[in-house]
Amino acid sequence: MKNGKSRHVLVAGGAGFLGSHLCDALLSEGAHVIALDNFQTGRKQNLRHLEREPRFDLIDSDIIKPLPARLRSKRLKIDEVFNLACAASPPHYQADPEHTMLTSVVGTHNLLTFSEEVGARFFLASTSEIYGDPEVHPQTESYWGNVNPTGPRACYDEGKRAAETLTFDFDRAGRADVRVARIFNTYGPRMRADDGRVVSNVICQALAGDDITIYGDGSQTRSFCYVSDLIDGFMRLMAYEGSFPGAINLGNPVELTVGDLAEKVLAMTGSSSRIVTRPLPVDDPRRRRPDITRAKQLLGWSPRTTLDVGLKATIAWFSDERTDGGKGPRS
Ligand code: NAD
Ligand code: UDP
Repeated sequence: MKNGKSRHVLVAGGAGFLGSHLCDALLSEGAHVIALDNFQTGRKQNLRHLEREPRFDLIDSDIIKPLPARLRSKRLKIDEVFNLACAASPPHYQADPEHTMLTSVVGTHNLLTFSEEVGARFFLASTSEIYGDPEVHPQTESYWGNVNPTGPRACYDEGKRAAETLTFDFDRAGRADVRVARIFNTYGPRMRADDGRVVSNVICQALAGDDITIYGDGSQTRSFCYVSDLIDGFMRLMAYEGSFPGAINLGNPVELTVGDLAEKVLAMTGSSSRIVTRPLPVDDPRRRRPDITRAKQLLGWSPRTTLDVGLKATIAWFSDERTDGGKGPRS
């Protein structure tokens, strides 16, 4: 691949939580970056600090539709395409399940075809959700998963599984140089307060003194990765040379129950919020923890940020959001 200074990179989903951090990381390496987003869950304010950056451009478009003509301009060379476009939080991706499925299938196909045409390396942001409610623990990349294909989460889980299938087929046919990351629960600054995922919900509820909502009895587990660690994994995986290494798990293997996460946030915020229980959503995975042996071996990657450090930074960010109404500098 080209070095940072001469690279031109397209980031689909660039206005989202992870996408905006990825744009920052690419720009800090000297790359030219075009973010493309339909603003379904992404926000312009995530990219506001890049408004005057000459190496950055933002396009309002949906990856389900034909890609904008300016991306196909003969004078515009794209070296890398990151596909992060897809609502990631259960309430958001279930709000329009048909669009979620089409985003993963039609949208990924559009971006793969584009990558083939321009000779760009293609990166798919896949997910631990492709393992469904796992019977193998921790989850290795060789595990095929346990997904309900017709339940309310299927639009996301099966969509991402189909996106992986398309990506692997483009590799098998020699049509594109591809990379696939299976991302496990990631948190940090720029998550939306109304995102609906557990870390943002619990922190915002604790800061507001509202009831902390635990779905089910709180004994289900997740393993939470801090955003800067994940983006480091993205950069290493995209830079990985050699033949397609297959899908790679990226996540923090430190596993805890949702109940323990809530207690930790309560202690860290000094909040007197009560913990209340709500029904467990349908098909909610009982446990989740990545086996990251492959990422360690192939990429020399493992997360460095402890949950305490990551939560402290995330709580501080949400706290600033509350006091300045989201008008302050973004980190
Ligand atoms: P996010 O919702 O903040 O970002 C998704 C972005 O994609 C948003 O900016 C949204 O507006 C945009 N988008 C959605 N559909 C689109 C479409 N059809 N066309 C153009 N833009 C579209 O979520 P995130 O947490 O930043 O997730 C980014 C990617 O990483 C997603 O693909 C998600 O599936 C994947 N992922 C995230 C996590 C996590 O824990 N954050 C875990 C697993 C996988
Ligand atoms: N969860 C919860 N309270 C909330 C939001 C989520 O107890 O306010 C639970 C949810 O049921 C799941 C876990 O926390 O068991 C992680 O949910 P999240 O939506 O963050 O991620 P995902 O289910 O996609 O892993």
